[in-house]
Amino acid sequence: MTGIFISGIMQRFHSANGRIGRGKNRKPYNGSKGRHFGKYLFGIIVVVSILLQMYWVRELQEQIAICKNMEKECSVGEIKTLLREIECFPVREDIHKKEYCYFDNGYGAARTYGGKRSHEGIDIMASNNQAGYFQIQSVSNGVVEQIGWLPLGGYRIGIRSDSGFYYYYAHMDTYAKGMKVGKKVTSGEVLGMMGNTGYGKEGTKGKFAVHLHFGIYRQVKGREKSLNPYYLLEKVA
Ligand SMILES: [Zn+2]
Repeated sequence: MTGIFISGIMQRFHSANGRIGRGKNRKPYNGSKGRHFGKYLFGIIVVVSILLQMYWVRELQEQIAICKNMEKECSVGEIKTLLREIECFPVREDIHKKEYCYFDNGYGAARTYGGKRSHEGIDIMASNNQAGYFQIQSVSNGVVEQIGWLPLGGYRIGIRSDSGFYYYYAHMDTYAKGMKVGKKVTSGEVLGMMGNTGYGKEGTKGKFAVHLHFGIYRQVKGREKSLNPYYLLEKVA
């Protein structure tokens, strides 16, 4: 018993004097190297946690700003749902990096075609004004609920998300292959091409500049009510 105790003490003594492990391959223990590594690791953890906190704070500030801008239109819960389910901008970037899209906050502006009304969405304009150039993609997962011609919206597509919001894409030039009522779509899936259809009977084109009219609707007491997508689009632009 005493022998085992002494051999244990000796082993600890050896380890403390720079040797660890057993057998032929044991290596000298470099204590200072380990301490340096510990310091580096600690430094990395501190930097990463600061960066994460900065990112989180910025995200939170952005969410608060969006909530302030949209508080009259929907609840904080609804805004959170929209922020979660809108995963991308409705127009894909130009793969040639030549042309670009732009938009401003034209929600609520006066419109006269088809009677006096207010603009129920945001117009995303194309720098080249060329129909069929930009690809339109679904901003969220959902199901195609409406597709086809409308006198105002031209060739449009309407997608109902899992949470119940209705995303409306209008004035399209063409639809992507296989688009039909009931089709499931995922965020980022191409719905068709940007165009300038609408303001007349089926097939009317060129009554205005090429753009995507993008709208978001939600059901309020059984009726579809529009909300301003501008701040949500800014987030994913
Ligand atoms: Zn519009």
